[in-house]
Amino acid sequence: MTAADSLGPISIVIVGGGTAGWLSALLLQAEAKRLGRTIALTLIESSKVPTIGVGEGTTSIFGGVLQSLGIEERDFLAKTDATIKYGIRHRDWRRLGHSYDGPIDDAYALADRIPNAGSWIDTFCVAAGRSVADPHVFSALMAGNKAPVARSQGRDVPISQFHHAYHFDQAKVGQFLRSKACDIKTIDAVVQTADRDPETGHIKSLCLDTGERVDADFFIDCTGFRRALIAGIMGEPWVSYADTLPVNRAMPFWIDLDPTQDIPTYTHAWAQSSGWMWQIPTTERIGCGYVYSDAHLTPDQAQAEIERLLGHPIEPRNDIKINSGRVANVWSGNVLALGLASSFLEPLEATSIHGTIVSLLLFLKRHLKTLGRETPLDKARYNDANAGQVDDFRDFINLHYVSERDDSAFWRDVADGFIHQNTRARLDLWATRLPKSSDFANDLDGLPHVEELLHYPVLDGLGLLNRDAAKSEMAANPKLRQFARDTVDHLTNQAKHAALQARSHKEWLASL
Ligand SMILES: Cc1cc2nc3c(=O)[nH]c(=O)nc-3n(C[C@H](O)[C@H](O)[C@H](O)COP(=O)(O)OP(=O)(O)OC[C@H]3O[C@@H](n4cnc5c(N)ncnc54)[C@H](O)[C@@H]3O)c2cc1C
Repeated sequence: MTAADSLGPISIVIVGGGTAGWLSALLLQAEAKRLGRTIALTLIESSKVPTIGVGEGTTSIFGGVLQSLGIEERDFLAKTDATIKYGIRHRDWRRLGHSYDGPIDDAYALADRIPNAGSWIDTFCVAAGRSVADPHVFSALMAGNKAPVARSQGRDVPISQFHHAYHFDQAKVGQFLRSKACDIKTIDAVVQTADRDPETGHIKSLCLDTGERVDADFFIDCTGFRRALIAGIMGEPWVSYADTLPVNRAMPFWIDLDPTQDIPTYTHAWAQSSGWMWQIPTTERIGCGYVYSDAHLTPDQAQAEIERLLGHPIEPRNDIKINSGRVANVWSGNVLALGLASSFLEPLEATSIHGTIVSLLLFLKRHLKTLGRETPLDKARYNDANAGQVDDFRDFINLHYVSERDDSAFWRDVADGFIHQNTRARLDLWATRLPKSSDFANDLDGLPHVEELLHYPVLDGLGLLNRDAAKSEMAANPKLRQFARDTVDHLTNQAKHAALQARSHKEWLASL
C-alpha cells in the first residue's frame, strides 16, 4: 500500500461534459493512477444543456496533454478536423493596414544561455529595427503554411523541438475525449440543487432532475457559463473585468475553406471597428466570430459590418453575451470550478482552454495526493495562484488594445477608458528599458504562463518597445551585440531552411 492509498479512496463528481469536463476527467484519472490514489469518478452532463459550441484554438500546452494521456497526434488530428497553429496573426490592431505575427515557440531554447543578459535576442532585434518574430522557426512555418514535419527516408520527421498548438472542431474534441474514457461513470441529467453539510457548508450530494441523488467527497464544476455549483450553490462572487476588457458579445459563424488555397497555420485575429474577428481553420471550414462591444454596435450592425468586409452574407450561429471576469475563489468548500465555470475573458490569445489545463495540472500536482486533508492555507494559496493567472491574462489581453487607432468611437473609448492601470504602469516602465523575465510573476509552480516570450511579439507589433533603450542596452555590451547579431542571423536562416524542408500543411493533413 502506498502513502497515498493510506488516505483512502475518494469519490469525485465532475459536472459538465464540455472540453473542461472531459479534460478534467481524463487528466484526473491519469494522475490518480500515477499516484496510486483510488478514486471513484462520475461525470454528470446533460443532453438538454448544450456545450458552448465555440473555442477552437489552443496553446502549445494541449500537445503535452495529449502526450500525457497517451493519445497519438495523428489520431487526434484525424478525428477532430484539427489543423496546426504556430501562433496568431494580428491584423489592423496597431493601425489599419498593419499586421504582426505572434509565434509561440521559444527562440531562446535554441541559443546559448547568457547569465544576466535579459531578453538579449529580442533586445537585439528591437535595436536593429528587426521584427522580434524573425528568429522564430514558427514564424517561418506560419509564413509558408507548413506542416511540423519534413519527409526523410520515406517517413515524416518533426521539423522542430517545440510543441505547436491546434485549431479544431470543439464538438468533435468533446466526442474524442469522451471516447478515450474508461472506468468513468456517466450520468445524463441536470443538476438542480444540492444537500450541504450545515456545519461546513460542503456539498454532500447533488439532486438531479431525474430524482436521483449523487453523493461524493469532492465536486468539480465544469458547467460553463451556468456555474451551477460554484456560484449557484456555493455562492462565490464574480470579479468582473468589464471595465478593462472592452468586448462583451460574440457572433460566431462559419465560412467555407477555399479549396484552391493553403490551410493557414495561424489564428487570424483581425481588428474591426468595434472589436475583432477570429478566423480559425479546421480541415472542413473556417470558424469565425466577431467579438465586439454592444455599447458600440447592435448585433445587426455587427453582422452588416462583417458582410461588407467579406463581401458575402454570413449566417451567425449564436449570439453570445460575455461577462468577462473570474469567480473570486475557484476552490470553495469541496467544490473546484474549472473552464468557463471559473473564468472567461474573451477569445483573444486562446487563454481559456490553456488556463483550464494549467489550473487543473496545478491542482493535481499540489493536492490530489492529499485531497481531503487540505488546510485553509492550502486552499487560499491555490485560489491566489489561480486568481493571479487570470488577472495576468486580463493584463496581457488588455495590452493588445493599446493602439494608435482612433477611426471609430470604440477605439477612442478604449484609449480613454479601458487601459488598465497595470498596463499603464508596465508601459511606463518599458518606456525606460526593455522587459525582462523578472517583470513577470509565475506563481504556478513553473507551469507555462504569459511571460516575456508571449509579450515581446505583441509589444513589438504594437510599436511599444523603446528602440533607443534597446540600442543603449546593446551598446553597453558590444560583445553581446555581436553574439546576438550572429545568433539572430543564424536562427533566422535556420528557420527559413526548416520551412523550406517542411511539407505543405494541407497536403500533410490530407495524408493522415
Ligand atoms: C466566443 C468564444 C470564443 C472562444 N474561443 C476560444 C478559443 O479560441 N480558445 C480557447 O482556449 N477557448 C475559447 N473559448 C472558451 C472555450 O469555449 C471553453 O474554455 C471550452 O469550450 C470549455 O468550455 P466548458 O467545458 O467550460 O463549458 P461548456 O462547453 O459550456 O460545457 C458545459 C457543460 O456543462 C453541462 N451543464 C451545464 N449546466 C449543467 C447542469 N446544471 N447539470 C448538468 N450539466 C450541466 C452542459 O451539458 C455541458 O456539458 C471561447 C469562448 C467563447 C464564448
